[in-house]
Amino acid sequence: MKIDILTLFPEMFAPLKTSILGRAENSGKIEFNIINIRDFSKDKHKKCDDEPFGGGAGMLMTVQPLYDALKAIVKKNSKIIFPSPIGQTLSSKKAEELSKFEHLIFVCGHYEGVDERIFQLFDIEQISIGDYVLTGGELPTMVIIDTLARFVEGVISKDSLISESFSDGLLEYPQYTRPQEFMGLKVPDVLVSGNHQQIEKWRKEQSIKRTKENRSDLLE
Ligand code: SAM
Repeated sequence: MKIDILTLFPEMFAPLKTSILGRAENSGKIEFNIINIRDFSKDKHKKCDDEPFGGGAGMLMTVQPLYDALKAIVKKNSKIIFPSPIGQTLSSKKAEELSKFEHLIFVCGHYEGVDERIFQLFDIEQISIGDYVLTGGELPTMVIIDTLARFVEGVISKDSLISESFSDGLLEYPQYTRPQEFMGLKVPDVLVSGNHQQIEKWRKEQSIKRTKENRSDLLE
């Protein structure tokens, strides 16, 4: 999979080089390409923002640099995403769906957003990462990439995807590792019993309990 990222702040994407995403790139499973939108500005000062028509606070990203940047990279099989509070909220299902594309293009908004005409010129899906407003689309882009990368073949083990929160509509059960006792707190006996049927039963019960307590909407 190839992921192009259009941004005014390429330096914000350093985290893509580390940990699991870094390994995914080094092993050739995902190729990241960061593109500076400013390089496409035809303004003599490379300006990429301007005041909104009709007035209002803040600046808007202008359409020309974005149009030229997208024109230069978009292909028949490309899927373009614009992280935005006005989009549908990201879900595990959406992340899995995105992981199937060969070529993803993320456009990072900044300031008050972008000139609306870009959405008339290209087929772009807007995706929100939650009901709050961030200063730019760079962090949401990384959030979306991080979660979709988990579904790309070979990035993490298949087993890790199976018992994860949301994979079966429930939140994950509590987990423990060594030591078996810490500050007087013991790991539940069932987990060290070696009885796999009982362990599975306990985990399922705990998942349902947690989901009821924290996210009863998932059970509806
Ligand atoms: N004026 C916009 C509004 O009220 O919907 C908010 C603009 S925000 C300050 C700047 C950029 O950050 C947005 O264009 C978008 O790219 C990104 N952004 C902010 N909040 C986001 C969210 N919850 N999900 C995804 N992207 C977000």
